[in-house]
Amino acid sequence: MSVAEKPAKRPIDKQALLAKYKAERDKRLRADGNAQYTRLEKQSAVAKQDPYTPVTPRAPKTDHVTFAFVGGGFAGLVAGARVKEAGVSSVRIIEKAGDFGGTWYWNRYPGAQCDTASMVYMPLLEETGHMPTEKYAHAPEILAQCQRIGRKFGLYDDALFHTEVTDIVWQADKHAWLIKTNRGDAFTAQFLGLGTGPLHIAKLPGIPGLESFKGHTFHTSRWDYAYTGGDPLGAPLDKLADKRVAIIGTGATSVQAVPHLAGMCKQLYVVQRTPSSVDVRANKPIDPDWFAGIATPGWQQRWLENFTANQAGGSASEDLVQDGWTDLSRRIRERIMTIPESERTPKAMWAAWEDSDFEKMEEIRARAEQVVKDKDAAEKLKAWYRQLCKRPCFHDEYLDAFNKPRTTLIDTDGQGVERITEKGFVVQGKEYEVDCIIYASGFEVGTGFTARSGFDVEGRDGLKLSEAWAGGMRSKHGVHVHGFPNLFFSQPVQGANLISNVPHNLTEAGKTIGLLVKETLARGAKEVEVTEDAQKAWVDLLLTGPGRMIGMNDCTPGYYNNEGQPAGPEAKYAVGYPGGATAYFKYLDEWRSNGKFDGLEFR
Ligand code: NDP
Repeated sequence: MSVAEKPAKRPIDKQALLAKYKAERDKRLRADGNAQYTRLEKQSAVAKQDPYTPVTPRAPKTDHVTFAFVGGGFAGLVAGARVKEAGVSSVRIIEKAGDFGGTWYWNRYPGAQCDTASMVYMPLLEETGHMPTEKYAHAPEILAQCQRIGRKFGLYDDALFHTEVTDIVWQADKHAWLIKTNRGDAFTAQFLGLGTGPLHIAKLPGIPGLESFKGHTFHTSRWDYAYTGGDPLGAPLDKLADKRVAIIGTGATSVQAVPHLAGMCKQLYVVQRTPSSVDVRANKPIDPDWFAGIATPGWQQRWLENFTANQAGGSASEDLVQDGWTDLSRRIRERIMTIPESERTPKAMWAAWEDSDFEKMEEIRARAEQVVKDKDAAEKLKAWYRQLCKRPCFHDEYLDAFNKPRTTLIDTDGQGVERITEKGFVVQGKEYEVDCIIYASGFEVGTGFTARSGFDVEGRDGLKLSEAWAGGMRSKHGVHVHGFPNLFFSQPVQGANLISNVPHNLTEAGKTIGLLVKETLARGAKEVEVTEDAQKAWVDLLLTGPGRMIGMNDCTPGYYNNEGQPAGPEAKYAVGYPGGATAYFKYLDEWRSNGKFDGLEFR
């Protein structure tokens, strides 16, 4: 059977499945939750420096800029572009990496690719005139798009790379932010944006003995091509032929990297704690003739809105993107529509959702069985949880990688690696000797904003952001925070909270930021700030929604559900607009365009 074909349906025994899901989950629950992980930067045995760009010496900056932005990923690029478009030339992006790109700067592992369709994932395609080459672009193309945005909007001119912010303090007398960095900078900015991203601190499993390994080792976000051979464009990893390699972790990263490692190593061990659900990818090149036909003015906005409408609380008569995400939502929606309107209670809708999910997951599990020839490995590659309990994966070569020579799945039965030794790793009492350990162990999630960004922000009257958000995030639109004038956040939470296409949230935040910088300057005002009442009203509105943990408590542990531990009181604020993403973007458009900027005070 071809991997793109759908396997035959089997009868579903819901009670047996629920019992299996519960048993698999219970096996994985650990009391230490997020504390089981350690930061890459804390481990001296695993290389952590930037392997891609040498650090260039430069003099510290002590000047003043109109707009500064912390983070040179999508958020900073789109905000910077909009502020430049608004006529502000003094724009400075501060970025800890050696170039723009954010996650796409660091993640250059072989096979790295976007899981959301390029047409909606890659920002500012229309403005930069770029046609994505594939339905799901590979990482080098996405990084190149970031660099293209940087060049097109002149964002390189004053960017500070390899620079980490250490302090941000509001200077009331100057109506500006004082920004200090680890490169000795101490400059001011009238307006400041923060877009540091959710997944930028590489983490390692806290496996005993991690420091003792004497072989070669690196994290997937610091891929060592000098050791493996090959390159981010997909050239074969030709230096591994005499190497025994272990890759620890089987999340979205590993699913993409393993097909490039399989068959190339003297021996490859893929070490699994929880299998990912791996659905059909069906990537294909984008046909320039087709693209020329659809790329009429406003095309990307139409595609964005269509994807979101098919995804998150909208209604769309057509599905332009047609991928795993829209398929998932369509199936659930169709199932719910079979319930007579008068009987659509939350319980009935949940049951319909669950039925649709059982069906999908059975299909995904059957795919493992049909593709993987080793029956034992196929069984262990089956994911026993609802599809949205963990990050859904889509790939057409991952499962087949286990049919490649010298490629072995080491399943840890949900317990993880027991120990790292000088020579390799231990699973269920057995030591496997290897030359190289690759950690595909993901990024820190579940810590507060200030812990993850590495700095606090001291706002008006000495108020610290860590204090303002001690009991949970408070904002209007996820962008404006009372007590922090001229400061804008760019991230999804308390806005659309559209997780399947994070860039849509960021491009909308970028528009808001550009507009507000322009508006404040045009009014001759020095400051713009959300009022306390407006912020409270927005948060109160958010709390009328269904909340974020719905259906997650009984999920297998992972970063979607705080590793299975009870979420703290602040979790209830990590939500989006109750009407859904489409309704939010519509509301926001109106809020921006009526000129009133309801809830903000210009002074
Ligand atoms: P994840 O956090 O998703 O995966 C980490 C892996 O390490 C899991 O399989 C985890 O197992 C495993 N692990 C953790 N501790 C141990 C241990 N002690 N022993 C053995 N295994 C262990 O990280 P990824 O880098 O894969 O993905 C992070 C996120 O980045 C994704 O969820 C996605 O949002 C994003 N991403 C997006 C892509 C895209 O296409 N846009 C591509 C790749 C990543 P367990 O599951 O049991 O915790």
